[in-house]
Amino acid sequence: KSGFVAIVGRPNVGKSTLLNRIIGQKIAIMSDKAQTTRNKIQGVYTTPEAQIIFIDTPGIHKPKHRLGDYMVEMAYSALREVDSIIFMVSADQKRGRGDDFILERLSKQDVPVYLVINKIDTIHPDELLAIIDDYRQVMDFKEIIPISATEGNNVEHLLDVLVDQM
Ligand code: GDP
Ligand code: MG
Repeated sequence: KSGFVAIVGRPNVGKSTLLNRIIGQKIAIMSDKAQTTRNKIQGVYTTPEAQIIFIDTPGIHKPKHRLGDYMVEMAYSALREVDSIIFMVSADQKRGRGDDFILERLSKQDVPVYLVINKIDTIHPDELLAIIDDYRQVMDFKEIIPISATEGNNVEHLLDVLVDQM
């Protein structure tokens, strides 16, 4: 089994932290120039049964400034090359316009989109339920997976879900 997974989300939600936890040292040996057609490979997670290639989609994190409509469309069409998309948010930040812009585009993608709510170590379980409720109203995610990238909570489950999907 193998597949491409894009991780998208606002700056500082914990994308790099999650990748470092999943891939560890291997990230350091990836070439900066490693590319699929339009996406940059950030790391490869390999087990005896599966391989997940995590990629970054340049342009998708900064929709508001400077990018023309054409550039934005290019960034989003690059997502058609992936098998799944992780949309990552931070449990300690409210859903904002930046999130909504990305979500509106993601809802038009054909591939499964997983909502990963990171930094659950910073909040009370009741708050987590409210966040899940809030995002459920904006989009029909394939699955909602709360994690803590720094503590490692639920990261194995996330990997299992991604592999099962392939
Ligand atoms: P990125 O911009 O999305 O790649 O975010 P980073 O991975 O650089 O993380 C931004 C900050 O959030 C760093 O200071 C991380 O240590 C912190 N962070 C990431 N994941 C977690 C988490 O699960 N819990 C907490 N408390 N902090 C986190
Ligand atoms: Mg980063």
